[in-house]
Amino acid sequence: MNTNLQMGTILIDGKKVSEEIQNEIAEEVKQLKAEGRKIPHLAAILVGEDPASQTYVGSKVKTCEKVGFNSTLIKFDSTVTEKELLNKIKELNEDDDIDGYIVQLPLPKHISEQKITEAVDPKKDADGFHPVNVGRLVLNLPCYISATPYGILQLLERYKIETSGKNCVVIGRSNIVGTPMSILMARNSSIGNCTVTLCHSRTKNLKEHTLNADIIIAAIGKPDFVTADMVKEGAVVIDVGINRVTSTETKSGFKLKGDVKFDEVAPKCSFITPVPGGVGPMTIASLLKNTLMASKKEIYS
Ligand code: NAD
Repeated sequence: MNTNLQMGTILIDGKKVSEEIQNEIAEEVKQLKAEGRKIPHLAAILVGEDPASQTYVGSKVKTCEKVGFNSTLIKFDSTVTEKELLNKIKELNEDDDIDGYIVQLPLPKHISEQKITEAVDPKKDADGFHPVNVGRLVLNLPCYISATPYGILQLLERYKIETSGKNCVVIGRSNIVGTPMSILMARNSSIGNCTVTLCHSRTKNLKEHTLNADIIIAAIGKPDFVTADMVKEGAVVIDVGINRVTSTETKSGFKLKGDVKFDEVAPKCSFITPVPGGVGPMTIASLLKNTLMASKKEIYS
């Protein structure tokens, strides 16, 4: 990655912001302990042996411990039945000590992700995937916001990036990133008030849209997809993509790349997130924030 950015381009350091948030949460947990109040408790359900899922869940649990939360990791073999998983979810819903929990996706094909997501008590839905939380998000009501879009909001806020009245193009319409992101950027809120265009695989003349954007949020899953000719001077570019590509530069034989061709796009930007170290580390910080809010019953009583 080229770190010699043109003067005026600010690199958004998600790792640093995530650590700041984790420190703030750790301070709050200390305070809760001192006052003899409940310590937040996050549980995570992991099904199967998918290495990426194991890594994600592992680091979520580790970060919980780092900030002083209680955490519980519940593992199932990939042969677990939908019924068994639903029983565990019921148990977690009824367990007063568990404030929030996540079911790491993807799940094996024989289990309906929709059924599992809908079985989670919206009050404990730390991932913000339940239809009740998504619906409340659309209505601009208090809710758990899905972790990656929530992380992006916090980056925009902490870097004091003006969003009101700006043209924002979101590329990608997934339920967990693109769609909620497009709604959040359009809401009448301190970070929001954008005119939003949601682009996707059927969008014609994508470049015409992106060239008109003050803010581009790319969540496509294709390495180097957004190139310099698609970006106007001074744009803010948020790269959500995490793509594993083969590489001769690393020992492991692969490296992570974003959806944005960083070296050529960065010099045109006012702000840009790198990959890795941009949006990625924020997801975990948001999950902790949601769990803390759940523990303090700030969204639902
Ligand atoms: P997804 O595969 O569910 O959705 C991809 C979207 O891109 C689709 O809506 C599709 O319409 C759109 N798309 C595909 N080809 C396109 C094209 N040619 N032109 C315009 N749009 C096109 O992806 P997702 O789950 O939203 O993830 C997107 C990327 O973000 C992936 O690389 C994923 O690994 C990454 N991701 C990162 C984090 C994080 O914490 N940083 C979290 C979630 C996802």
